[in-house]
Amino acid sequence: MTAQLIDGIALSKKLRAEVARRAAALKERGVVPGLAVILVGDDPASAVYVRNKVKACEEHGIRSVLEKHDASMSEAELLARLAGLNADPTIHGILVQMPLPKHIEPAKVIEAISTDKDVDGYSVESAGRLVAGLPGFRPCTPWGCMKLIESTGIELRGKHAVVIGRSNTVGKPMALLLLQADATVTVCHSRTPDLAAHTRSADVVVAAVGRRGTVTGDMVKPGAVVIDVGMNRVPEGEPGAGKLCGDVDFASVEPVAGAITPVPGGVGPMTIAMLLANTVASAERAAASAPGHP
Ligand code: NAP
Repeated sequence: MTAQLIDGIALSKKLRAEVARRAAALKERGVVPGLAVILVGDDPASAVYVRNKVKACEEHGIRSVLEKHDASMSEAELLARLAGLNADPTIHGILVQMPLPKHIEPAKVIEAISTDKDVDGYSVESAGRLVAGLPGFRPCTPWGCMKLIESTGIELRGKHAVVIGRSNTVGKPMALLLLQADATVTVCHSRTPDLAAHTRSADVVVAAVGRRGTVTGDMVKPGAVVIDVGMNRVPEGEPGAGKLCGDVDFASVEPVAGAITPVPGGVGPMTIAMLLANTVASAERAAASAPGHP
């Protein structure tokens, strides 16, 4: 058996085209969706991520405002800047690129972003809304994973889903989204004694660990849907050194799984697509509640 390859590039293109259509419809009504992207310091990887996000906005009718601040920016200055963006009606989404310099507390910064503009979905209120099943912004990576799972046609109701990883940004929201889709969810982490005992009974496995080779073919139930969130590099001295790879050992899992995401080209492209979708949704909501709207 050979697994269906879940093409994150193709699906993200479809979703991005839909975003561009919605942005164009808003523009006709005089509203241009706006995303503020804040970068503090000079972390090279962050600079690349931010550039990609800004470029994606430009290509899809979303105005992006990129603010680059020196690493010496104080926490108080950043919080004041966020207050300004919260009050700016032309800005519908605010994103602060992590990691921040050590003297700035990330939790304080995330909580300073208005829930109405929290397009990363990282705030405590957004997380609470997800727990309670209320509308709100869903974190982009797990929400993108849900779209990838849905694209396989699997009916999640009553299925067993295993999420490996329990971070606030990926593992936990992923588990909640699967629960909301009526899956029976198991969350595994570094203290789980026998990971394979859980994954072997899973109809869906989502690996969000950050460790190459966490999931191997013998750990997967035949026909399962396997989503690989991991972003790792093949170490020096091994074949393909330096290349991007996931948490899943593709070579051994692909012959067993029913469907699988590749790395690269799986989850990665979906994250930005969902960020664009959240921003345009925020602009739509703002436009609908604007004075004079029927
Ligand atoms: P994280 O905050 O480091 O969380 C990793 C999780 O994996 C933790 O919950 C940890 O358990 C668990 N873990 C570690 N070793 C384990 C093991 N041997 N067995 C089972 N669980 C184990 O990472 P993250 O931010 O969630 O990201 C996870 C991966 O996804 C990373 O590779 C990251 O680069 C990637 N990522 C990709 C995208 C994308 O767009 N493609 C977006 C975000 C993240 P404990 O809680 O017990 O420590």
